Amino acid sequence: VQRIRQVTVLGAGQMGSGIAQTLAQYGYDTTLYDISDAAVERGMASIGSSLDRLVKKGRLSPEQKQSAWSKLTPVTALQSCAHSDFVIEAVPEQLDLKLRLFQELDRLCPPHAILATNTSSLPITAIAGATKRPDLVIGMHFMNPVPIMPLVEVIRGLATAEDTVKLTTELAEAIGKTAICVADYPGFIANRILMPMINEAIYAVYEGVASPESIDQIMKLGMNHPMGPLALADFIGLDTCLFIMETLHAGFGDSKYRPCPLLRNYVAAGWLGKKTGKGFYSY
Ligand code: NAD
Repeated sequence: VQRIRQVTVLGAGQMGSGIAQTLAQYGYDTTLYDISDAAVERGMASIGSSLDRLVKKGRLSPEQKQSAWSKLTPVTALQSCAHSDFVIEAVPEQLDLKLRLFQELDRLCPPHAILATNTSSLPITAIAGATKRPDLVIGMHFMNPVPIMPLVEVIRGLATAEDTVKLTTELAEAIGKTAICVADYPGFIANRILMPMINEAIYAVYEGVASPESIDQIMKLGMNHPMGPLALADFIGLDTCLFIMETLHAGFGDSKYRPCPLLRNYVAAGWLGKKTGKGFYSY
C-alpha cells in the first residue's frame, strides 16, 4: 500500500502483539507501544516465540524471521506515533480508556493518519467522536490468533470516509487478510452471530438439556464446527463473552440477547475459562 509506510500498534497484549507481528512479517515498519517497559517486553517476547514457531514449522525462513524482527520498534512514549501513517489501537476493552487515547492520538498524529480500533464491541462512531477527524477513524477487528486467522472485519462508523475504508481494506489485504466491511451496530457481524450461539449453548447447560461435552460434540460432529461453542467460550474468556452479550442486550434493547444467568455466575466465581484454569472445562 503506497500511502502507508509507518504503522503504530497501541497495546502489546494478545491482539496488539499479533497485529504488530503480522505487519512486520509483511514488511511494514511497525512501532509497538504499551504503557510500561514490562508490557512491551512481554509483547516483543511473545512475537519472538511466535516467529520461532513459524520457523520451526517451516512456514518462515530464518532470514524472513530476522527481517520481520528488524521492522519492529518497541516504545513506551505515545509521541512516537507522530510519524505514523496508520495507527491500530488494541488496548483493553474500556470505552473511557479508548476515548482518552483517541483524543491524544488526534493531537499527536499527522493530519492524514488513519486511526483504527481493534475493539470487539464498542461503537466506532463514539470513538471517532472523541477526535476532530471522525472521517479517518475506523474499526479494524482482527481475529485471535492474528497471524493465523484470515479475517479482518472492517467497521465503518457513521462519519468514516470512503477513502478511509479503501485504504484500510488495502492495508488488511497487503498483510494477507481478507477484509469485509460492515456497518457500525452492536457486535458488528462476527460477535453478533457468534456470542448468541455461545449464550444459547450456556442456556442449554443451565437448563440441563445436555452436558458441555455433549453440546460441543453435537456442534462439531453435526455442524462441522472445528470447536464446540463451550470450548470456544472458554478460549475467548467467559468475562469477554458476558461483556459482549451485555453490549448486544443494551445496544439493541432486545431480550433475545439476555445473558444466561449461569454465565453471570461463572464470571462472578472467577471461572473465566482457559486463562483461569476453569470454565466449562478444566485446564
Ligand atoms: P490484552 O489484555 O491482552 O492486552 C492489552 C494491552 O494493552 C496490555 O498489554 C496492556 O498493558 C495495554 N494497555 C493498557 N492500558 C494501555 C494504554 N493506556 N495505552 C496502551 N496500552 C495499554 O487484551 P487483548 O485481548 O489484546 O485485547 C485488546 C483489544 O482487542 C480489546 O479492545 C479487545 O476487545 C480486542 N479484541 C480481542 C480479541 C481477543 O480474542 N482477545 C479479539 C478481537 C479483538
